[in-house]
Amino acid sequence: MGRLFIETLSGPRIFKCRCCKVDFASHDDIVSKDFQGRHGRAYLFRNVVNISLGPIEERQLTSGLHTVNDIHCSSCLQILGWKYEKAYEPSEKYKEGMFILEKERMLKEGWHDVLTVSSP
Ligand SMILES: [Zn+2]
Repeated sequence: MGRLFIETLSGPRIFKCRCCKVDFASHDDIVSKDFQGRHGRAYLFRNVVNISLGPIEERQLTSGLHTVNDIHCSSCLQILGWKYEKAYEPSEKYKEGMFILEKERMLKEGWHDVLTVSSP
């Protein structure tokens, strides 16, 4: 690996790493908020930055067999969720190339002006 490159996102609603506060994803890139991670609620994103991928593995998820990589924060290396490389069920194919980020691993910094966002 070369020098660590941290990308910065612009926009009013950016999810950041809870540990090291690098940017991960924009709220506009959320595809679904209705996913389950290892530790609770997770979001499906179409685009995520500042992550590194773990080894590819086959994993049986609640929605069927998938080929996934774990994803880590490229800065502090905490595990964030996973990336869908391949789905076998036709109904799950739309997730290929998308990312699951666990809500509890992320920080919503500077969102206080957004009234629709609240934590249960
Ligand atoms: Zn981090």
